[in-house]
Order: sequence, then C-alpha cells, then structure tokens
Amino acid sequence: MKLIYKLLMLALLLVPALAAAQERPANYARAPRFKALVYYSEHAEEAHVQFSRQGVEFFRKLTVGEGFYLDVTTSLAGYTYDKLKEYTCIIMLDDAPHGPAERAAFEQYMENGGGWIGYHAAGYNDRNTHWPWFSRFLGCGVFKCNNWPPQQALADVDLSDHPVTKNLPASFVLPASEFYQWEEDLRAKEHIQVLLSLSPKNYPFGIKDIVYGGDWPVVWTNLNYRMIYLNMGHGDECFSEATQNLMFVNAFRWIVSRDPAGDPFDK
Ligand code: ZN
Repeated sequence: MKLIYKLLMLALLLVPALAAAQERPANYARAPRFKALVYYSEHAEEAHVQFSRQGVEFFRKLTVGEGFYLDVTTSLAGYTYDKLKEYTCIIMLDDAPHGPAERAAFEQYMENGGGWIGYHAAGYNDRNTHWPWFSRFLGCGVFKCNNWPPQQALADVDLSDHPVTKNLPASFVLPASEFYQWEEDLRAKEHIQVLLSLSPKNYPFGIKDIVYGGDWPVVWTNLNYRMIYLNMGHGDECFSEATQNLMFVNAFRWIVSRDPAGDPFDK
C-alpha cells in the first residue's frame, strides 16, 4: 500500500478517537490542580493528636486520583511566607503557629489571600496566647468554657444556602467531641458568618463540665479572609459521621475554590 493511503487510513482511525476526547469535559483529568498543607502537632494533648492522625488520613484520601498534592508537616519551623504561599490551603488540625517568625509568616499569608481551615485546638487561644491578630482573625475572642466529657451534640445549620451547608439537613447529630464556647459574640460582627451551631436543645450539656446555655457557634467564617473554623476535633470518633464528613469536604472545596489566582476546579 502506498504511503499516502496508509496515512489516510491512520487519519480515519484517529478521527473518532479525537471526537471522543473532545466529548470529555474541558477540565477532565487536568490534575493535580493545587497544593494543600496539613499541619498538626504531635505534642498536643493525646485526644487532639488522635483526631489529627485521622484528619491526615481523611484529607489524604481526598487526593486519590491525584486531584491535588497534599503535604503534611508536624512543625511550621521554616515555613516562611514564600513557602506558605505555594499552598492554596493550609489545614491546621490541632495547633496554631507559635513564635514570632511562624506567626508573622502566617499573618502575611492570610492577609494576602491565603486559605485556612482550622479545627478545634487550632483555634484555641486564651489570655496567655498574646496574639491579638489571631483572636481578631477568628472573630471569637478567647476561649470561655467547654462541655466535658466529649459528647455527641445536635447541631443546627444557621445558613442553609451557603456552599458549605447547602446539601446538609437542617439539623444533624455531631460525633462525640469537646466543644468550645467563646468570650465574644460572633453574631454581633458583620464580617462573621455562622454556618453551624449547637442546638439549644442540648442544654444542659455535659456531665462533669456542664454548660447551661448561651449561643454556641461551631462552624463559621470571617468574610475578611479566606478561612473557615470548625470547632470539632477531640478524640478518635470525629470522622465517624457521614453528614459531618460531607460538610468537611464542602468546607475544603469552598476554601480551595476561592483561590485569588483562580478556582483550581475550573482549570
Ligand atoms: Zn479538645
């Protein structure tokens, strides 16, 4: 067969293959799309480390298919602003930055469009923390009190048309955790959106440490930053509830999708 016919036949064979490729969504398999960093401390209280190790596995499973790169660190030493800004999102599972260099790098990262998901003890701060920026960033002031021991709790969705809550039931039961109440009123602040809170039906809440009332937000965002705080994260049962896990994935996707460099999921 002459070469020209061979080429012609090859072209005819390729046409359906090319057409099939074009039928795929435009963003098909353009991955990994972004980088995320998980930070947790191995020196935190044991129940917080238990949560963190499960959290690492939870987020690692989301990388199946290499949708994104996930780095995990147990120390923020050396994480300068230039290093942090490589990440679309930083997930802090049981601890916040310590020391002036780590704190300054994180502040610069967040003030310049960085993404943050904080759980439980990552948001803990009290009068000894001496980091006013962080307290303002969270919006809640300092820690006030908690239930004890860790318990399941009925949670109410506060904002049902938000990307983080849109596919959740109006109320659902959270797995056993210690939950923090805070000094400042989040709902009094225009730049804070409370997405989920513990239902007043839980009161009195606790066996040893009992909380008798008060507003109890557990998931919120500060609209001045690309951040979300989720207060659950104590012990080894926190990833045992599908509705809550769905919210965790929603939160991750929402933070990542608002990268100022463009939504990585649209790439
Ligand atoms: Zn705790």
